[in-house]
Amino acid sequence: MTQTQTAVEEPLTRPLTTLSEDEHMFRDSVREFAEGEIRKRVEEMDEQAHIDPELIKQCFELGLMGIETSEEFGGAGGSFFQAILAVEELSRVDASIGVLVDVQNTLVNNALGRWGAPQLKKKYLSQLAAEKVGAYALSEAGSGSDAFAMATRAVDGGDHFVINGRKLWITNGKEAEIFVLFANANPEAGYRGITAFVIEKSTEGFSVGKKENKLGIRASSTVELILEDCQVPKENVLGEAGKGYKISIETLNEGRIGIGAQMIGIAAGALESSLAYTAERQQFGKSINQFQGIQFQLAEMATELEAARLMVYNAARMKDAGINFVKEAAMAKLYSSRVAERVSSKAIELYGGYGYVKDYPVEKYWRDSKIGAIYEGTSNMQLQTIAKLIIGK
Ligand SMILES: Cc1cc2nc3c(=O)[nH]c(=O)nc-3n(C[C@H](O)[C@H](O)[C@H](O)COP(=O)(O)OP(=O)(O)OC[C@H]3O[C@@H](n4cnc5c(N)ncnc54)[C@H](O)[C@@H]3O)c2cc1C
Repeated sequence: MTQTQTAVEEPLTRPLTTLSEDEHMFRDSVREFAEGEIRKRVEEMDEQAHIDPELIKQCFELGLMGIETSEEFGGAGGSFFQAILAVEELSRVDASIGVLVDVQNTLVNNALGRWGAPQLKKKYLSQLAAEKVGAYALSEAGSGSDAFAMATRAVDGGDHFVINGRKLWITNGKEAEIFVLFANANPEAGYRGITAFVIEKSTEGFSVGKKENKLGIRASSTVELILEDCQVPKENVLGEAGKGYKISIETLNEGRIGIGAQMIGIAAGALESSLAYTAERQQFGKSINQFQGIQFQLAEMATELEAARLMVYNAARMKDAGINFVKEAAMAKLYSSRVAERVSSKAIELYGGYGYVKDYPVEKYWRDSKIGAIYEGTSNMQLQTIAKLIIGK
């Protein structure tokens, strides 16, 4: 009997997209925050490529920065599925806030919660739930898809490691104070030398470099990190030395579901805008949504979004149920990023000329959607994972 069959026999009484009362309440509260506080700031934050610090403060106050973190550490003690709902709802209004919350929960808190020694968890998970933004630093200029070819080195200095190198493309890097960062502590051992560290921004030898000027998710910071003889105490090794490769693979497996949630949020935002606009816009003496040509396009968009949402929710619920979800997570990210791009592109066309200018929200959804095919493993890398799992090699 497969794992999936076992799970189906458990009392799964709700359809995938039907929320429990708790999930409903949680989603409504995130939506209220997104509509009431985020929406009015979206255009300016995108223009200025900057997140309003007031919103980050509110994310902490609402418990969105430690959704799964246990109450013992000041977190909300929620489920992974709730984190996914939050990322979706936030991204429906602004994918930059979506990824701020996504990285904090699905990568940083997740890595610490799973692999952190008790004193590391106590120290950092509580700060991450209450006031400090986290970032996850794996990629480098020369190592993206081939992440384990990293050049950043950690040298044993007795009670500490000395780290030298540079990380590139690090989300939340400008706002973050706590970094989960990967370096190779034993290059002769290849990927088995990769070690994960928890590094505070204030550590000597650690600095934040250039911030990227991006196509989409412009308010989300993407920066370079520079480590020059950066001394990190041994107690800040996350998990065991040499097990960083496993930590990075396993956190990113979960993280991908978060990116899927960001993508369905973008698609939902673009579809809702399109429904409203096509009802309002008059041509040939009637609303354009009275034309079958427009209706069919809206129907296609809604159907694609429904399929992507089912995939993302299924992967998230599998994760919460303790079922192996690697293939489903890769499929969900691959598919939902394509859907977000298609739906938001179609939204621009449905708006006509107004879709092409920044006075209306849809061009931003399209720009924001593009990142889904790139970070946390490009679409080719997702196809590689899926292919390996279905072929069995
Ligand atoms: C806005 C943004 C935010 C990011 N945030 C983070 C972050 O917070 N932390 C972090 O660590 N990283 C982050 N990244 C980095 C991101 O994960 C990498 O950009 C991504 O993994 C791709 O790596 P690369 O850019 O080096 O592209 P490459 O790996 O050079 O890929 C280039 C092209 O080659 C293809 N390719 C490569 N190898 C193969 C292969 N074997 N088979 C087929 N095709 C292949 C790829 O699919 C892609 O199309 C971020 C990137 C961006 C743009």
